[in-house]
Amino acid sequence: MRKLSTKQLLLSFCLSLGGLGLSAENIYVRSNHIVTMDATNAVIDGYMRIGSDGQILDVSEGEPEVDAFSRLIDARGQIVMPGFVSGHNHLWQSAFRGIAPNEELYGWLNELHWTYGEYFKSGDMYTFTLYGALDQLRHGITTTLNHTQTVPPTYEQYMEQFSAGMDAGQHFIYSYVLDWKAPTATVRRAKLVDLIEATRLIQEPHACLGFGLHGVGVHRGADSHREEVEIAKDLGLDMQIHYLEGAKQSLEKGQAMYEMLREEAGVWDGLVYAHFIHTNDDILMHSAKKGAKMIWNPLSNGRLASGLVDIPKYLEAGLAVGMGVDGSASADVCDPFQNMRMGMYALRMRDSSAAVMSCLEVLQLHTIKTAEVLEVDDRVGSLEVGKFADFLIVEPPSPIFDPLATLVFATSASDIQSVWVRGVQQTKKKELLLHDMAVVENEMELRVERIRLDLAAVATTSQP
Ligand SMILES: [Zn+2]
Repeated sequence: MRKLSTKQLLLSFCLSLGGLGLSAENIYVRSNHIVTMDATNAVIDGYMRIGSDGQILDVSEGEPEVDAFSRLIDARGQIVMPGFVSGHNHLWQSAFRGIAPNEELYGWLNELHWTYGEYFKSGDMYTFTLYGALDQLRHGITTTLNHTQTVPPTYEQYMEQFSAGMDAGQHFIYSYVLDWKAPTATVRRAKLVDLIEATRLIQEPHACLGFGLHGVGVHRGADSHREEVEIAKDLGLDMQIHYLEGAKQSLEKGQAMYEMLREEAGVWDGLVYAHFIHTNDDILMHSAKKGAKMIWNPLSNGRLASGLVDIPKYLEAGLAVGMGVDGSASADVCDPFQNMRMGMYALRMRDSSAAVMSCLEVLQLHTIKTAEVLEVDDRVGSLEVGKFADFLIVEPPSPIFDPLATLVFATSASDIQSVWVRGVQQTKKKELLLHDMAVVENEMELRVERIRLDLAAVATTSQP
């Protein structure tokens, strides 16, 4: 059989993808609480008009004049808000919830990645990622950065994370890991360039908002790091890295690694830290000065006992901050409402002060501010003319005194009535309308079961 080049391989699956679909009509969404998250933080008693291309054409106060060619969604008494943006995620991990309950970062990595990874077979990464993306979608996350991982044995299996993201229909940024098994830097770079070029050829609308680099050089060493920084800068990509997450490793090794980042010109406005908990003043101030950014993951940081980030101090220092729910094996329910509360409440408890973070601030962090960190705020993160109509309609469980407070304090993902991406309804209550989640779940469970049986069989045969 003729062996396909990387580009041909990518094109073959990219061209088979269905894309996002389009609405056939203009849509008006009428609500007395449209939380726009625009620059003025306007909450509007009015309507949003969405074109058939899925873009917002108008957000105005008052009653809409709906013509015969348009559809009216009456959401009066409900809150309309932008879909959440989650800046750090490993979608495949959703198949491994509840794992390693009493472990911290490295113990948890050992039980998950380093135990199961080598037993992954063709199709596992696709199914797990699809399940993770759809689960995020029904929890109100309409844009995700999938910080992909080379857990399975082959590059083809690794790339299943891309095709699953395209099929799910949730907007995503593909945070790409260089193929470190490839023989040279030239080949590693060419594989990424091929993927970006192949994606450009896919007809819009599709789910991929762009690419970034998942930098691992900070763990592999200076040569790898230098190569990644060069590629990221050359291609104009952001590079996201896990950095200063677990307390023990941060203090033993992590902080000292900052010198490598600094010396290799590896701290620039394209560098995004995931976690960035155990910093010191020098690291924080230098990072802020260089324009580096970070993603705060309160659920995961709590679950893995990683620590509480001093977000008010970071913001004061001028660091750009966004939020993420992280993978669902360390933030086991990907509920962004819960994520906001976890972070905000921890800070309020620490300081015995409500002034430490407001409802507006934490809502901004999980929507427009994350979109800014990911550099997709021209398209998502707020409800404004020209952006994609990615939004949620939320049925608050009690009377609304202040819509922002209701969203932050009194709402959970189970209160979401519908999730929309580019003006196309994705869910009704928790039911996905464009995918059969029962089939995906069943497939995911069978594959996890097979992996566990394979692992158990090896353990049995290797016993003396
Ligand atoms: Zn992570």
